[in-house]
Amino acid sequence: SLPLAELDPAVAAAVATELHRQQSTLEMIASENFAPAAVLEAQGSVLTNKYAEGYPGRRYYGGCEHVDVVERLAIERVKDLFGAEHANVQPHSGAQANAAAMFALLKPGDTILGLDLAHGGHLTHGMRLNYSGKLYDVVPYHVRESDLRVDMDEVERLALAHRPKLIVAGWSAYPRQLDFAEFRRIADAVDAYLMVDMAHFAGLVAAGLHPSPVPYADVVTTTTHKTLGGPRGGVILSRGGLAKKIDSAVFPGQQGGPLEHVIAAKAVAFKVAASEDFKDRQRRTLEGARTLAGRLLADDVAEAGISVLTGGTEVHLVLVDLRGSDLDGKQAEDRLHRVGITVNRNAVPFDPRPPMVSSGLRIGTPALATRGFGRPEFREVADIVAETLKGDTPEGELRDRVTKLANAFPLYGDLA
Ligand code: PLP
Repeated sequence: SLPLAELDPAVAAAVATELHRQQSTLEMIASENFAPAAVLEAQGSVLTNKYAEGYPGRRYYGGCEHVDVVERLAIERVKDLFGAEHANVQPHSGAQANAAAMFALLKPGDTILGLDLAHGGHLTHGMRLNYSGKLYDVVPYHVRESDLRVDMDEVERLALAHRPKLIVAGWSAYPRQLDFAEFRRIADAVDAYLMVDMAHFAGLVAAGLHPSPVPYADVVTTTTHKTLGGPRGGVILSRGGLAKKIDSAVFPGQQGGPLEHVIAAKAVAFKVAASEDFKDRQRRTLEGARTLAGRLLADDVAEAGISVLTGGTEVHLVLVDLRGSDLDGKQAEDRLHRVGITVNRNAVPFDPRPPMVSSGLRIGTPALATRGFGRPEFREVADIVAETLKGDTPEGELRDRVTKLANAFPLYGDLA
């Protein structure tokens, strides 16, 4: 069997240039990270060849004795990591984890409450064109215009008025911690299930640096590739009493054969996430985000009409507010791209610009923390971002500073 470069040079070349892009630029997309080489190795293993419909010890295919070992390891490790009673590690993605969790708890037409996409929620929390918006009767809640924090008074008001079967708490673009106890109180008042989607902040929870939703929620879903730093995929945690419902909603409800090579990589990532090094990395992630927010709140940036939503951050990302600036989200994203920093533009709540342009940027620190960045490097990154957005430093000079940082922290040295 031929190596990739010989069998398919076109794909090999694209992989090689993507590796070079990751090595030579600064990755600040808040939902991205760099999986360790051991995770890539497990994911690239022969486990990809195996059919294993069902669950460990209860498969519909022969020859599952070794993938059973792997899936049991993943389940036990993630239960330990988060103190959960039950775990399903088979969802192929975060969206499929959410679809399966809702399939387990709801019938089509049931009412759900979720954070509006335009205010930081995720597509799967009830967006009109998503399965969640098509299958369920969605009542969106919002952030307050005054301080841009989730309006728990509105959540309670909407819950009492609409009596949802499920309340979804969680976000894709929100720089603050949620009050899980308050969500639980409101869910109990209307006899609703509470599902927390911790996809973004799961790594912080694992490290004990963010409150855990597990004691409060009936179901907790997550991706494994964001702050958790593992392979692309999803996980559903739940109370023991919901185990059967959740498992049968994933298979046969939503999926066929599980991706055992990805589940092996998840197991490796959960082992890593229990380590002291991982905690240190999450600490640096948070410190980096605070450093960036602090720099973007300084007077020289404010003079350019640029600000930070909610005036800071408690998590791994900063939301830049460009509503008062001539620079829009698209232009800002492009400008940072030209100097070698990758971010995504993001609509801000009450955004006057259309979504394809938007008035915000979402900037995250997990990937750079994984790369080894600490306080001095994040200070320099924050300066580069601030100067790029202000636009009065030559872009070539900023690009050189990015290259210097990237070179000082080599990535995947043995993959090239
Ligand atoms: N949930 C939240 C809160 C997310 O931010 C995302 C991804 O952006 C998902 C779910 C979906 O994950 P995936 O892209 O793996 O389907």
